[in-house]
Amino acid sequence: PVRTRIAPSPTGFLHLGTARTALYSWAYARHYGGKFVLRIEDTDVARSTQDSVEQILASMKWLGLDYDEGPIYQMQRLERYHAVAEQLIAEGKAYRCYCTPAELDEMREAQRARGEKTRYDGRWRPEPGKVLPPVPAGVTPVVRFKNPLDGDVTWDDLVKGPITINNREIDDLIIVRPAAEDAPAGSLGVPTYNFAVVVDDWDMQISHVFRGDEHVNNTPWQINIFRALGAPLPAFGHVPVILGDDGQKLSKRRGAVSVTAYEEGGYLPEAMLNYLSRLGWSHGDDELFSREQLVSWFDGSHLNKSPAQWDPAKLEWVNSQYIKQADDSRLAALVAAHFAARGVQVDAANLAPMCSLFKDRCSTTVALADWLAMYFGPVSPSAEDLAAHVTDAVKPALAALADKLEALPEWSKPVIAAAIKETIGAHGLKMPQLAMPVRALVCGRVQTPSVDAVLELFEQEIVVKRLRSL
Ligand code: GLU
Repeated sequence: PVRTRIAPSPTGFLHLGTARTALYSWAYARHYGGKFVLRIEDTDVARSTQDSVEQILASMKWLGLDYDEGPIYQMQRLERYHAVAEQLIAEGKAYRCYCTPAELDEMREAQRARGEKTRYDGRWRPEPGKVLPPVPAGVTPVVRFKNPLDGDVTWDDLVKGPITINNREIDDLIIVRPAAEDAPAGSLGVPTYNFAVVVDDWDMQISHVFRGDEHVNNTPWQINIFRALGAPLPAFGHVPVILGDDGQKLSKRRGAVSVTAYEEGGYLPEAMLNYLSRLGWSHGDDELFSREQLVSWFDGSHLNKSPAQWDPAKLEWVNSQYIKQADDSRLAALVAAHFAARGVQVDAANLAPMCSLFKDRCSTTVALADWLAMYFGPVSPSAEDLAAHVTDAVKPALAALADKLEALPEWSKPVIAAAIKETIGAHGLKMPQLAMPVRALVCGRVQTPSVDAVLELFEQEIVVKRLRSL
């Protein structure tokens, strides 16, 4: 059965790259009716935080990436890693290494001086007939994996195709490090990423590993450890990096890289999911599709080998398409939350008709809130708009319109439209000659939907007041 996982390290927000791998792992599991597991790789104790775990869980939830098992925390599984390390030692597949950091530095220094690649020289690696150095007092050993000395490691990567690495390229990896010096007495040492990930993927019976390209060099070690454990090998798919618009790897320095930033920036999760999925995968020319379509199409084929470029304008376009289709009451709730973040309390019920009128011209719900702010606070028309549209010639008509609107016994689009029509007739104006200054004064901007529809959503007295604010 298909079992996939995502294994974020809780050292920050859910990164866009991790979100995309999570999405692929999730979609693959859903496509094949398998299971999707969430594992928290929190062995970097100094950098892992509970706050980050919560951010990651919240972002997964927001994106709708539901998991069937987890979250499973590596730090709660230390005993298991130790047991497996002990088993490997007992079987002669791993060993204790007593090199001090100073000794390792010296080893690398000497290798560099000889112009060699730095690597562990195997001095504590047991071999038949080899005499090991005497165990030094006071050094807590690390555990190293006894990597095969020759032969190839080969796998058929789901994304990159066949990959072969010779074992001579890789050295004896540290699989368990001693507990930190300031850890309580008796604390278990901490497994390294490459070891914990194998024990976990084995125990969790992971069948397909999707992860970022940056791990492709780790995979040969992991495969060797799987083999040493007699564990079945999962399939691996290494997804290329996401590049920023400068062609460099997407990073914090180059703008928003967290899912949370897009949530706060007014993007809809389904737009995000749609856009992320297309960054490194395609289904023909399909641009916009639902979560269900994604799941039905995502069978592991058509994953791109080359890096994808993050395109903020494209994401915005995708988002605008989803906003157009979104339910008004849902948009209203999102916009109300943006207002609340700005310290403006607005009843979402009042917002729904406004969202309906303006959603076609907004690519984010933040932009929608920016638009609708004119209904809930003062506006400041630009000097240019005032100069261009609120001319002396039109001022009498504006004053007359204000009087007319003030006198209306009922406030609705048809009666507002009628009042405007009467006013242009009486003053010999064309529609835009009156509509533009009305927009400038009441809305603070001149490009709006039809003026009667826009005015209807204001309170009558605010419209009158703004028309008289000359
Ligand atoms: N904790 C690793 C990361 O966040 C997981 C890599 C993997 O999926 O094996 O990069």
